[in-house]
Amino acid sequence: MKAVMYQQYGALPALVDLPEPECPEDGVVISVGATGVCRSDWHAWKGHDPVPLPHVPGHELAGVVARVGPGVRHWKPGDRVTVPFVCGCGRCTWCQSGEAQVCPAQTQPGFTGHGSFAEHVAIHGADTNLVRLPESMDFVTAASLGCRFATAFRAVANHGRIGPGDWLAVHGCGGVGLSAVMIGAALGARVVAVDVSPAALERARSLGAEAVVDASSTPDVAAAIRDLTGGGAHVSVDAFGSPELAVASVRSLRRRGRHVQAGLLLGPSSTPPLPMDLVVSQELEIYGSHGMPARGYPAMLSMIEDGTLRPGDLVGQVIGLEDAGAALAAMDQPSAAGMTVVRL
Ligand SMILES: [Zn+2]
Ligand SMILES: [Zn+2]
Repeated sequence: MKAVMYQQYGALPALVDLPEPECPEDGVVISVGATGVCRSDWHAWKGHDPVPLPHVPGHELAGVVARVGPGVRHWKPGDRVTVPFVCGCGRCTWCQSGEAQVCPAQTQPGFTGHGSFAEHVAIHGADTNLVRLPESMDFVTAASLGCRFATAFRAVANHGRIGPGDWLAVHGCGGVGLSAVMIGAALGARVVAVDVSPAALERARSLGAEAVVDASSTPDVAAAIRDLTGGGAHVSVDAFGSPELAVASVRSLRRRGRHVQAGLLLGPSSTPPLPMDLVVSQELEIYGSHGMPARGYPAMLSMIEDGTLRPGDLVGQVIGLEDAGAALAAMDQPSAAGMTVVRL
């Protein structure tokens, strides 16, 4: 099969021929229809997040079940599916209670093993991890959900419990942040978006942000948000993942507000000095949000089917597999052009 692979960190990924993946006993092989190009893939490629080399990236995928392992009960060849970027083992107590996003034995396609920049990809624990796609949803749209959009949905809707008229602050307007802006606005929230890039803020406005804060020229972002919102946001999300943004997010809340940490905090200097004095005196709530398990998808998918959410609007360009390596390498530069999705 054709796949895009890199031999060393930072070396341009190349289109190669690889043997077909083996089908796991409890899993499936998916014929990939589309796969997103994500900054997490870029981090792995740069060596920030170690992966087994040589490596095939790709974790935001949608496609058709091609082969099924003997231990799988609920899926058959021809089923149209996507998967969360965190796949559970399917056997532990977390997976059995539907919380595969925190499975201690989790696998992540494109990180713990070969991913979906390929014609076929193997997925473990199919009965736990596969999500059935509505017939009306094309693979490019479905691939754009896998990581950033689903992460934002769970952060804003499930942890944030955002309601109509609530203020939602979104810190960082990359893929997760722009998705959070769109989802918050669709759920009736008033959204204030924060970034250092005027282009990203412009994009946030076009997706429904009522107000924006340019962090490059605002000395105290949290104070600016408290002013804009008449006392602070009901819900605030660090959609980027940095100690500075996490602290600003907590400080931008009103009393009894909810901070959701959706951006990953990686590396030794990544523990935020959160103001726990405010957390106790103002009864703030702090949530960590790690993707979204398969069982969370139906609520999101039905809001896409009825047109409430439009993830397709976040897709900037659609490319072929032969251009995926160059697109991954191009993530060195920030871009407000929207998500890039590979169609196979
Ligand atoms: Zn598990
Ligand atoms: Zn991703």
